[in-house]
Amino acid sequence: MKSELADMALDKKRTMFDDDAPDVVPVPHALVPHLDETAILLDIDGTLLDLMPTPREVWVPPGLSETLSRLTERTSGALALVSGRSLNDIDLIFAPDVFRAVAGHGAEMRLAVDSEADAVHAPPLDKELKRRLAAIAKLSPGILLEDKGYSLALHYRLAPHAEKAIYESVSLIRADLPSAPIEVLPGKFVCEIKHSGFTKASGVRELMKHEPFKGRRPLFIGDDVTDETVFAIMPDMDGLAFSVGRRAMGVNGHFDAPADVRMFLARLLDPR
Ligand SMILES: [Mg+2]
Repeated sequence: MKSELADMALDKKRTMFDDDAPDVVPVPHALVPHLDETAILLDIDGTLLDLMPTPREVWVPPGLSETLSRLTERTSGALALVSGRSLNDIDLIFAPDVFRAVAGHGAEMRLAVDSEADAVHAPPLDKELKRRLAAIAKLSPGILLEDKGYSLALHYRLAPHAEKAIYESVSLIRADLPSAPIEVLPGKFVCEIKHSGFTKASGVRELMKHEPFKGRRPLFIGDDVTDETVFAIMPDMDGLAFSVGRRAMGVNGHFDAPADVRMFLARLLDPR
């Protein structure tokens, strides 16, 4: 009886996975033999950092910035954060440390940490469109509006019941503007509206054309729907992809939680 229950639980767990890849938690030593030939690409929220009720409440656990800085050194600078957050936001979270990054879902990119001139930014979203989208936050208390300039994000972790109403309102606005070059990005308790034409994947492709990333084998870790575009292009670059919290389609392995990712990264520095 006991084992029957366990089997049922296991079956249930199995159906949560996207594909039938072997159930392997990655082993650092076997998977990343040469840091000097690897580019380490990391999503932030839900991957490096635990998710919090609002995006402003995330915090960097002790040791993580040091691990990232040491990995940056060991890869000759080929470590980048790949996030939906703006560059500004990323810097506030990790201050005083500054990392190379693909930010704003590919809308911004920083290739060198010592020169602001190397950062590129996408054009801002149309003002009138932004005004209409911003009004959606009035649907319910707890919907937080974030203006990144080139995109607008509606966070509803504090108002999960409003999800359907948010997406319906966004659809209505989009239907009014059939030719506007915008797209809707669904995430974990966030709906983001941005210019079409750039994604985390287009950002990573561009990043990998530049030193010190060029010619290296990328290793990407991410957790959310928007990270799937990056999982999908890893094979083109002979790269490795890992998901967090679930086994996403086409990945080489997965981690249960951000704490496991942090431990994995620390072990890369000292595989013993
Ligand atoms: Mg994430």
